[in-house]
Amino acid sequence: MSEYRHAHMKAAVVRAFGRPLVIEELPVPLPGPRQVLVRVVASGVCHTDVHAADGDWPTLPRVPFIPGHEVVGDIVALGDDVEELAIGERVGVPWLYATCGQCEYCRSGRETLCPLQLDTGVQVNGGFAEYVVANVSYVVRIPETLDPFLAAPVLGAGLASYKGLKESEAQPGQWVVVSGIGGLGHVAVQYARAMGFRVIAVDVQLPKLALAAACGAELCIDAREPNVAELVQQDTGGAHAALVTADAPEAFATALAMLRSGGTCVLLGMPPGDVPLPVYPVVTKRLTVRGSIEGTRADLVEALDFATRGLVHVTRDVRRLEEINEAFDAIRHGRVQG
Ligand code: ZN
Repeated sequence: MSEYRHAHMKAAVVRAFGRPLVIEELPVPLPGPRQVLVRVVASGVCHTDVHAADGDWPTLPRVPFIPGHEVVGDIVALGDDVEELAIGERVGVPWLYATCGQCEYCRSGRETLCPLQLDTGVQVNGGFAEYVVANVSYVVRIPETLDPFLAAPVLGAGLASYKGLKESEAQPGQWVVVSGIGGLGHVAVQYARAMGFRVIAVDVQLPKLALAAACGAELCIDAREPNVAELVQQDTGGAHAALVTADAPEAFATALAMLRSGGTCVLLGMPPGDVPLPVYPVVTKRLTVRGSIEGTRADLVEALDFATRGLVHVTRDVRRLEEINEAFDAIRHGRVQG
């Protein structure tokens, strides 16, 4: 580890909310007990990173910090008490950096609900840097055969989509609406297919619907057309579940109206402000509305396995660290396909 003691690295740092990230030379962080130092190979850029850097949340991270929570890299140094990982191994560093391990949620396999959790790229420096320190208990091994530029978004967007589909409680052969075919949505369509669901893709942009069709959606619906929910009801008898990744407030009501009785609507996208809940159909059709956050470590192993078996791909742009602000702007203005 001594070779890293006085080494420096490039990193993209949030110095002030809503301002461009600053590319800086910083000391390479050194791993403590139960930590490893990872040389970053690929780091996904997610809308969550933009929200963190813009200070969009009720609880703000402390500045300065380095965002990035979809990190793939190689272990180059070990802290004390690390036995299960070795130098040279490729790992993924996900959103969940650490949880308490003791609360009712941690004890019941729902660690993503732990109130004491630390998140990569928010409370702990993330992967928009040449090196990152990771927690041995929460990193995941990445197979050599898996493209790191595919593995990185699977750690965040893929995992969130996969978990949301599990939370929908849909069964193989059933219809699932995927609303919003962006970074999450286009991966969600592929997971849904791989899990045996029949997919109804909903968006307001034709190129995104074309992407959904290429990803395996059977029905592709332009939500700007009139009576789209009635159409889905006629064609399928109503969807068994819906996964809303869009953050347009109207997307929620449309997805809800596409459900059959007993259906479940899972919310992943977060529109600014509140969205009205149509109580009448929720009560009379016994609908369920629930949120879903990131998956657990066990979910992550499953999500990566689908990708390793070639069942999930991502549409992506590869950029250099110095282009981080351009990448953020592209996401802010919806100029990203996939
Ligand atoms: Zn906990």
